[in-house]
Amino acid sequence: MTNINEPPLYGAIEGGGTKFVCAIGAGPNAIRAEARFTTSTPEETMGQVVKFFQQQEEKSGKLSAIGFACFGPLDPNPASPTYGRILPTPKPGWTNADVVGMLRREFDVPIAFDTDVNGAALGEWRWGKAQGLRTFIYLTVGTGVGGGAYVEGNLLHGLIHPEMGHIPLRHDLEKDPFEGACPFHGDCFEGLASGVALERRWGMRGSQLDPEHIAWDLEAGYIAQALASYTMTLSPQRIIVGGGVGSLGHLLPRVQNQTREYINGYIQSPAILENIESYIVNPGLGNRSGVLGALALAAQARGRQA
Ligand code: ZN
Repeated sequence: MTNINEPPLYGAIEGGGTKFVCAIGAGPNAIRAEARFTTSTPEETMGQVVKFFQQQEEKSGKLSAIGFACFGPLDPNPASPTYGRILPTPKPGWTNADVVGMLRREFDVPIAFDTDVNGAALGEWRWGKAQGLRTFIYLTVGTGVGGGAYVEGNLLHGLIHPEMGHIPLRHDLEKDPFEGACPFHGDCFEGLASGVALERRWGMRGSQLDPEHIAWDLEAGYIAQALASYTMTLSPQRIIVGGGVGSLGHLLPRVQNQTREYINGYIQSPAILENIESYIVNPGLGNRSGVLGALALAAQARGRQA
């Protein structure tokens, strides 16, 4: 029997292309258990997630809600016939996988389903560097590139959900002859600036490239082009840049400077002209933005139902 005075117990899933991170708890300082599973097939991976939550429920009581922040593209619109599914993806076996359905069969609680980056944005809004803001962006630059947007107090979905990693960028083929790594667009933002692109272009992983390597000036330039475009488009009050590549300490100052150069004084705000260091920032939750974002999604889902 659920005691009304007990704190809520949320299930959180950060679904990534290489691993799934699951947690149960009530907030960043109240995580009761956590588990990681290698991403294999939807049936196997979601089966491990379900089993983890069931085991935790036996120990700690029923979950109040589940938040699922997942790699995309995906359908986050509850009114759509394909809600809760992964949309066509190059990832083998995952196209059309009904991942929310696999949870719903086992758990009769509110389930929030959104992109990994929208989840991370909500986590940063609740507990990280976007507290008190009404409009901001969370961008991850890692194996892939993706962005979540929180606009006037709500996560932005629109037609499906933003795909900020796949915008076209200016690509100077003399300076950078690499053709790009995106299977859909070649030299889109992700195709030029993801961890995969870095590795293919330079023959080694980003973490192995010296901070003084020419790779970083190019990388910062691509990220800065994208941030300048987002700044012009959504007028965010802040941009949070995370991910394995995006969180590299030596990259951030270059990105800040180059973004300000691209904007070139056009946006007359002290946030950009004088305080770019607090306009473009790394995540407050570090590499925990994803799983804590899923927790924040769960809390929001429960609040909506109440
Ligand atoms: Zn692309």
